Amino acid sequence: MSPRGTIKTVTAIGTYDAIVVGGGPAGATAAHDLAKAGHSVLLLDRAGRIKPCGGAIPPRLIADFEIPAHMLVARATSARMVSPADKKVDIPIEGGFVGMVDREHFDEWLRERAADAGVVRQTGRFEKIERDDHGTAIVHWHSEGDGTSVHSHARARCIIGADGAKSGVARAEIDGWDKGRFVFAYHEIVRKPDSPPAGYDGSRCDVIYRGTLSPDFYGWVFPHGDTLSIGTGSADKGFSLRHATAALREGCGMANAQTVRREGAPIPMKPLPRWDNGRDVVLAGDAAGVVAPASGEGIYYAMASARMAAQAAMKFLATGNAKHLTFARKQFLKEHGRVFWVLGIMQRFWYSSDKRRERFVDICRDKDVQQLTFDSYMHKRLTRKRPMAHVRIFFKDMAHLLGIAKVA
Ligand SMILES: Cc1cc2nc3c(=O)[nH]c(=O)nc-3n(C[C@H](O)[C@H](O)[C@H](O)COP(=O)(O)OP(=O)(O)OC[C@H]3O[C@@H](n4cnc5c(N)ncnc54)[C@H](O)[C@@H]3O)c2cc1C
Repeated sequence: MSPRGTIKTVTAIGTYDAIVVGGGPAGATAAHDLAKAGHSVLLLDRAGRIKPCGGAIPPRLIADFEIPAHMLVARATSARMVSPADKKVDIPIEGGFVGMVDREHFDEWLRERAADAGVVRQTGRFEKIERDDHGTAIVHWHSEGDGTSVHSHARARCIIGADGAKSGVARAEIDGWDKGRFVFAYHEIVRKPDSPPAGYDGSRCDVIYRGTLSPDFYGWVFPHGDTLSIGTGSADKGFSLRHATAALREGCGMANAQTVRREGAPIPMKPLPRWDNGRDVVLAGDAAGVVAPASGEGIYYAMASARMAAQAAMKFLATGNAKHLTFARKQFLKEHGRVFWVLGIMQRFWYSSDKRRERFVDICRDKDVQQLTFDSYMHKRLTRKRPMAHVRIFFKDMAHLLGIAKVA
């Protein structure tokens, strides 16, 4: 017995091809892919916290990762951009929709799908990685409950660190783990009132660009069926996200709606310079820093990077050559690096003052801009069907950047 009367035990759980730390979209995806390919996998996840998240996912994610329709609590068919001066630009999502998921159920469904594919699930908090005399990794974790404190460990040939932003696995194993950049995001889940306020549309996502609501990001009102996610983000530690969210709620007529949860979390805004330790660990998802700048979209990129991390791990397991672990980051940047770069510039330029935000919302009136934005968000590709549209947008953007075009 420990001094506080807690029974302490130590358990050894076995040896696996891979241990995946973190059971969010990234970890559950990596574990699922590895198990489907015939590998023995342990998925370790902390219990009891629902990931704070707006839950918006694009059709490309739904298709690539085979998400069933019943996981979608709402389908947004239009987006409204709101400027500092309250000018509104409504953008219909033609021929498609943005899916809305509740992370409480979505993440658990992904973990259970992985378990159905043969993944062994364990609940506990990752503590450390040690190595035995042969150099094999031993992952340690800890769990508590019913007066017991259990320390467990298991061996693995390979470890995937998918334990989210400010990852403990990255901190323990990866050079450059402290080179990340973050926005802190906060939202409140509120229950949709029985008689919603005038102007409420349960199939429209509102994105509000205003310095008082975020000095460097944006505020949002996302419908989720019976609830809404209302929130904002900023990298400015002195900025009150709670006050800004209260103003957002007031602005959309939801000040008195019942609050279900209040929660926040950091969103990484820059991929880490290294995702692997050159030996047996590779990162994925927020742990690797892969959230799109400007939009804060992270679920798709978490799952896409996890698929690449699983592929890298499989090559490593097949050959024993740790160089293959670098594949995940290289492949990710090859596919998405350009978009991240452009979005990073956009965020730095357009989100830096209300004057620029006003112009930014104004250029979103442009049909070419709308088409291009939605193609790249929904399908994760830049459409090549209309090359002249890119040229037109380039010149329009330049005109706005240089202040030649007039704000309507
Ligand atoms: C307020 C907010 C709103 C957002 N809205 C959107 C949106 O609308 N659309 C979108 O695409 N993205 C959104 N994002 C970003 C998105 O939520 C993340 O990018 C995404 O969840 C990353 O997935 P992940 O699996 O890498 O990490 P996470 O989802 O953070 O999962 C990490 C997992 O690791 C576990 N874990 C952590 N530490 C340990 C430990 N020590 N031991 C064991 N397990 C551990 C956690 O329990 C968790 O299950 C939002 C983020 C925030 C904060």
